[in-house]
Amino acid sequence: MEKAVLITIGDEILSGNTIDTNSNFIASELKNIGIKVSQIFTISDEIETIKKTLGEAFELGDLVITTGGLGPTRDDKTKKALAEFFNDEIALDEVTFNHLKEYMERRGRTDILERNREQAFVPTRSTVFQNQYGTAPCMMMEMDGKLCYSLPGVPYEVKPLIKDQIIPYLQEKYSLQYIHTRIVSVVGIPESVLADTIEEWELALPDNIALSYLPVGTRVKLRLTASGDHEAFLQQQVEREIQTLLPLLGDHVIAVSEDKIENILAEILTERKLTISTAESCTGGELAKMLTAVPGSSKYYLGGLVPYATEKKIKILNVSKETVEQFTVVSEQVASEMAKGCQKLFETHISLSTTGVAGPGKGEDGKEIGTVYYTIRINDKEVTSKLYMPHLERLDFMYFVSQKVIQDLV
Ligand code: ATP
Ligand code: MG
Repeated sequence: MEKAVLITIGDEILSGNTIDTNSNFIASELKNIGIKVSQIFTISDEIETIKKTLGEAFELGDLVITTGGLGPTRDDKTKKALAEFFNDEIALDEVTFNHLKEYMERRGRTDILERNREQAFVPTRSTVFQNQYGTAPCMMMEMDGKLCYSLPGVPYEVKPLIKDQIIPYLQEKYSLQYIHTRIVSVVGIPESVLADTIEEWELALPDNIALSYLPVGTRVKLRLTASGDHEAFLQQQVEREIQTLLPLLGDHVIAVSEDKIENILAEILTERKLTISTAESCTGGELAKMLTAVPGSSKYYLGGLVPYATEKKIKILNVSKETVEQFTVVSEQVASEMAKGCQKLFETHISLSTTGVAGPGKGEDGKEIGTVYYTIRINDKEVTSKLYMPHLERLDFMYFVSQKVIQDLV
């Protein structure tokens, strides 16, 4: 297996202004074709640092991918570092220049600034992959059979370059296979019994499909990983195996999906034709965000509210004033009334509510930071639970609580 090293370049990442999402994306795309990332460097926009890190990266891997620092601004120095590292000159590349001109003309810019023209200068020995969504080209250098790609930093430019150009190139060059993964989530059956139940099916799996058991809480995830040359074929092959597996497991199967809990929920709701709504206080819309991030969520998610102020919980969700006075707003009773009000308002089968103290500082009625009550209401039944997570920072708290609510529901 080829090994890759990623280098994220940019002072904005080191200063905490930008979260490095490029490495995350690139690593998972490489994993899909069986390339393992062995190390990720995050470094500043300094020529010497870039050169030194390129040297280290080539010691560690066969493939180096850098992102960032290719822009037309003075703080972008990757290209110069690249040329110096590879002992090459930078020169104008006609094809890249024409691409750049067309790119700018399409956007109504005919005045190509000198600074933009500079972007068509590349190391003379580089292979250029044109950037369809930006002005900085992607450059590939080769050294002793090893490859170095240098990409711009903007995530929406990185994604198509990786997916449409670099991944196919690497597959061709190294005759790499595709990997396709599906997960079957099973509940209410111990791992050992599960293994016995599906033993015959497991033994009959084709050689290119691997099965692993991943216990998560009360669930066991069965992960099928197939590898081969044709993506579509693998998908069909895995699908066929899953269809043989499902009857063996009956009601124990809760979902066949990718990994994320919100995707599993999506499958369940869609299949059972159930609708859902949310009333969130301390999660500030995080639950709604998680639910709507799944494509097709409009089929089951009818809407949500963030009635943050107590008076709005009373006015919009019909939470009773007496309940608030008697139990305070962060209470089991208020969570329950919020869920009821929300279910009625959106006319959904299921409603979810959260009320809590995200901190810092105590809640107005002295409730401890990190205390949350959440209600899951399904038709006329409901369960309210309490969480106490005082150690979490505000945004982590919102994320954690939302994940927990969805997990409980599933
Ligand atoms: P540009 O032509 O836009 O200047 P560039 O190659 O110089 O491209 P940068 O200036 O380093 O790229 O970054 C451009 C933008 O992309 C910045 O707003 C930055 O926040 C974002 N960005 C850079 N690197 C990353 C990264 N690793 N993950 C997510 N966003 C990034
Ligand atoms: Mg930059």
